[in-house]
Amino acid sequence: MKTRVIFLGPPGAGKGTYASRIMERLNIPQISTGDLLREAIRNRTEIGIKAEEYVSQGKLVPDDIVIEILKQRLAKDDCKNGFILDGFPRTIEQAKALDNITHIDLVINLVVPDEIIVKRLSSRIICKRCGAVYNLITLPPKKEGICDKCGGPLYQREDDKPEVIMQRLDVYKKQTAPLVEYYRNRGILVDIVCDKVDTPPEEVVDRIIKIMR
Ligand SMILES: [Zn+2]
Repeated sequence: MKTRVIFLGPPGAGKGTYASRIMERLNIPQISTGDLLREAIRNRTEIGIKAEEYVSQGKLVPDDIVIEILKQRLAKDDCKNGFILDGFPRTIEQAKALDNITHIDLVINLVVPDEIIVKRLSSRIICKRCGAVYNLITLPPKKEGICDKCGGPLYQREDDKPEVIMQRLDVYKKQTAPLVEYYRNRGILVDIVCDKVDTPPEEVVDRIIKIMR
């Protein structure tokens, strides 16, 4: 089975949702370098303190720090049978550094048309009071504009407005295209096309697990 997996996909492609369901079904951890960094900073580990110097200045944490944190994480027992990397690598330099610390079996490239991403993300609304997240298409509130949980008002984040989403997608494509080619040339990348806005997550997860097997 191919269980050392990288997930690639634009913002709003559902990487996190699919990864966490696969994690439950196959019992392999989902690893996000963003989460690892936040955890290291919170726990004030040696490397976390280094990372915080950059984060507190609003700078990107350098690759060698991220790779070191990832290396420590991948050495833990629960990664013995595999892992799903979500949000890393983003560049070829990072991919090469990753090759030096582990072997990757498979890269799942989620291909989602722009209009679907825009539809999905721009239908997301958030409670101003408690932060609960709703989606007008897949998870609408019971009463329009009002939070089910606390009765607070719902609003759309600036990041989720269509023109901002298009900009984020452009950045993603420019940044990730070389990485997709890098893994495709190595013959370990598989495209998963999700071209419907209402495809149930379970269906996509089944497709991914089949490829892993
Ligand atoms: Zn609320």
